[in-house]
Amino acid sequence: MRVYISVDMEGIGGISHPAPTGSKDPKYPAAVDLMVAETNAAIEGALAGGARSVLVNDSHGGMYNLKPADVHREATVLQGQKAWSMVAGAQPGPDGAPSFDVALFVGYHARAGHPRGTIAHTYSGAPVESRLDGRPTGEYGLNALALGAWGIPVGLVTGDDALAEEVPNWLPWTERVVVKTADGGHSAASVHPSVAAERVRAGAKRAVQRAALGEMLPLLVGPPVVVEIDFGQGFLADHAGILPGVERVGDRTVRFAADDPLLAFRAFLAMNRLAVAVGG
Ligand SMILES: [Zn+2]
Repeated sequence: MRVYISVDMEGIGGISHPAPTGSKDPKYPAAVDLMVAETNAAIEGALAGGARSVLVNDSHGGMYNLKPADVHREATVLQGQKAWSMVAGAQPGPDGAPSFDVALFVGYHARAGHPRGTIAHTYSGAPVESRLDGRPTGEYGLNALALGAWGIPVGLVTGDDALAEEVPNWLPWTERVVVKTADGGHSAASVHPSVAAERVRAGAKRAVQRAALGEMLPLLVGPPVVVEIDFGQGFLADHAGILPGVERVGDRTVRFAADDPLLAFRAFLAMNRLAVAVGG
């Protein structure tokens, strides 16, 4: 089994406030240690479940958080500024065949606009809510859309209980691991990091084993695939709406529709980045 792991930071156990997820915060190094521990737990679980190769995509912020020497030596680490962001490195090869058999999402978090999820957001602080095919979703859903187009199912999602509640709306087959209980956007009750690691390890093992049995399915949406973003302010929608093919459909809402899920995903990323570029 070839395993792809996308690791974010806001959903890691012990991280309960946005401040330490920023690289200039004095608590950031401690947050990185927690992120590395859950990453390694996922790698260990994947290997125990039958993985023969593991690629870890560092998927938070500037995307060079993990200290490479601290990551399990069986894994390869993809870091840095990646156009494909949280799904970088998972693209098919020249023959079009899938590059991985299963993807694991570690340290993920609830969608933007979730009433309770810890550090709930979608790709940036700009979207107030993001929808796929008219239904709210988060990074887990949008990333699963791109991976699904590449033939890769999502086998595991780890994070808080709010995330675990919403994931089955999109990925009902996916293993879920809860490492903290959300207590609002800036607060969470976390299990001890060693307990979190045990849970992530066990979840990753089950996910890879179940994927080998064909129990994990690539997410298929549409056609057409419709992505919408509600922004907090109209000027963010003005700038996102300049992207060719994007429609302005509300005071603060933009919409993009395409038959190709990868075009929809790329439009979502580009709209988000345009909004961030102008201060969203
Ligand atoms: Zn995130």
